[in-house]
This record gives sequence, structure tokens and C-alpha cells, in this order.
Amino acid sequence: TLHAGEMERRRLHNTLQELKGNIRVFCRVRPLVGGGPSPHILLPPDDHKALVLARSEESHVGRRTTQSTYSFSFDRVFGPSASQQEVFEEISLLVQSALDGYNVCCFAYGQTGSGKTFTMEGGDSDAAVGVIPRAVKQVFLAAHALGAQGWEFSFTASFVEVYNKSLRDLLYTGKAGKRPEHQIRKSAAGEISVTNLTYQKVQNLIAVANQNRSTAQTTLNDRSSRSHSVFQLDIQGETAGREVCCKSTLCLVDLAGGERVLKSQAQGERFKEMTAINSSLSNLGLVITALANKESHIPYRNSKLTYLLQSCLGGNSKTLMFVNIAPEPDSFGESLNSLRFPSKVNDSNKK
Ligand code: ADP
Ligand code: MG
Repeated sequence: TLHAGEMERRRLHNTLQELKGNIRVFCRVRPLVGGGPSPHILLPPDDHKALVLARSEESHVGRRTTQSTYSFSFDRVFGPSASQQEVFEEISLLVQSALDGYNVCCFAYGQTGSGKTFTMEGGDSDAAVGVIPRAVKQVFLAAHALGAQGWEFSFTASFVEVYNKSLRDLLYTGKAGKRPEHQIRKSAAGEISVTNLTYQKVQNLIAVANQNRSTAQTTLNDRSSRSHSVFQLDIQGETAGREVCCKSTLCLVDLAGGERVLKSQAQGERFKEMTAINSSLSNLGLVITALANKESHIPYRNSKLTYLLQSCLGGNSKTLMFVNIAPEPDSFGESLNSLRFPSKVNDSNKK
């Protein structure tokens, strides 16, 4: 049973979040391959200061040596030594609020190789388990605890990949050659659904997801960094009276790699992919900024990704974005690009 202290803690968290605005941005810098400190991403010792300094390599202008320093602030910064457990602790209350009726959306943004999939899905060891499995486990445990107070929850999960302009069902278990096409539909009541999608009762979800993950590793590894994967858990809670009391969605998104590609290098399919990724990512930025500014028109329909996510963004929803950073010197340009992405979002949120 949830005792009064826990309920109070959650109520306070929700109130505080509303006061601070419903969009949080965290930065996570992964370890340098081969270990050691990053030569250009500097993290202050106290990570609560939430500041990242990116320092460009020294360049020589005439006889002078110049160095540019850029600083970025976030709601929280996780350095290379932050464990999956520490990262999850920081978002567990956010996840919890999905059971309080809030829609929750959590994104991982960053260039390919920066740690998005590691953050969302995790690595192989128990300690390396990422946000998605931890969040699902926490929601189930909390729902179980609320069961003692007469609540009954049901869960439906879907896992979709958005690639260029098409959707692919990651929970599909049918014949490979018979994959159906998917369309996004919006009901008169404004609810978003996807046609022909597998909506899985959650009990056996983990097995299917694991199966899909292994196929993804062998055949789609390359493609996976060029598509967005959207895990969505629809939650419905009822009390003994059988009337629906709480309906919400927890959405966990591993975004496509946000790297810039020189036009001359990307041709054909590759160019089409980059264009689709860039336009969907910048549209996501526009949507979040418009929501933070409480604008009357939110451009959800400008991309498949935001159209799909429409019902979990906006309204009373809570949004968290991870900006994942690769600390290697050759990623400097991309890192700077990624670090700049949420600044508009963040600034307008705090007005
Ligand atoms: P992305 O999904 O952004 O392309 P990955 O999550 O696949 O990047 O990460 C790239 C590599 O770095 C993987 O081998 C991953 O296991 C490793 N990695 C990423 N983040 C961390 C971390 N915080 N700690 C340890 N290894 C990490
Ligand atoms: Mg990935």
C-alpha cells in the first residue's frame, strides 16, 4: 500500500513540475572510448550545476592562438560515470506520474553513437538495463501497489519504428513477407491510433521486444540509427466502481541520429533518409517550443513522428529530453549541434 508520505511526495513532485514548466532537458555524456577525460567536453564537478562547456580545438589566427568556449545549461547533467540506476532515479517520479493520469514523453536525442539506445534500452548486463525496461517494471510495481487500494490497471503496449515516412511495427510476429502497411488515424475525440498495429497486452511484451531487438541487431543495425523508435504504453486505471478514472500514455522514444551530413556525401536513399530525419527532428523542436510557448497552433501534422506522438505531447503532458553526447574530439561539431538543439526549447519553457 502506498502510504501517505509517498502520496504527498508525488503530489509535491507534480506541483513542483508544473511550477517549473513541463519540459525538462537532461544532458548525458557517455564515456570516452578507451577511457580518460574528454579533451573538450568539460563537466563541472558538481553535476547539479548543470553546465556543459564545450571547447573547440585551438586554432591559430595570425600569431595568436584562440580558443572558443561554449557553455550550455541543463536541468541536469550526467557525466561518463553516471550509472543507469542514477539516471533512472532522476526520472522515476516522472514515470510515476503516468499512473497519476499525466501523459509522459521521454526522448533521447543525439548523433549516432552518442548513447541514445544505451540510455533508452540499455546494455547487456543487469546493471546496464536502460530506461524502457526500468520504467515498465516501475509502472507495474506501482500499479500492483495501487491494486491494494481498489485500483485496477490495464496496459497496452506498442513499439513502432518511424523510418522516412513509413511506420514499421516492432511487435509484429507474423510472416516477414506479409508485413501490413500502417496509417496514423485520429478519432473524432482526438485519439491517435495506428492501423494494423500490434497492440500487445503487456504480460508477454518483454519476450517479444527481446526477440525484435535481436533481429534489429543482426539485420537492421545500420537502419536503426536512421529511424525513430517509439515505445508507447497506454495505461488505463479504474476503481472498483468500474468507471474509467485515469487514462494516460507513457511514451519512450529513441530518436534517429541527428547528425548533419554534407550534401555532397549523401546521395539517393541516404539523402532521402537524412532529409526525412532532419525535417522530423526540427519539427519535433518546433512542436516542443510551440507547446512551451503555449501557442494556439502546434504543428503536429508536419511530420509522422509528431503526428504519432500528438496525444502524448501537449495538454497536461510532461516531456523529458535527453541530449546524448559523444565526447571524442572528432564529434565536436556534432556535439555542439546537439547541445544547441534544446536551448530554444529550454529558454522558452522558463519564461
Ligand atoms: P546511439 O544509439 O546513440 O547510436 P549507442 O547507445 O548504440 O548509441 O551507444 C554507442 C556505444 O557506446 C555502444 O557500444 C554503447 O554500449 C556505448 N555506450 C553508450 N553510452 C554508454 C554509457 N553511458 N556507458 C557505457 N557505454 C555506453
Ligand atoms: Mg541507437
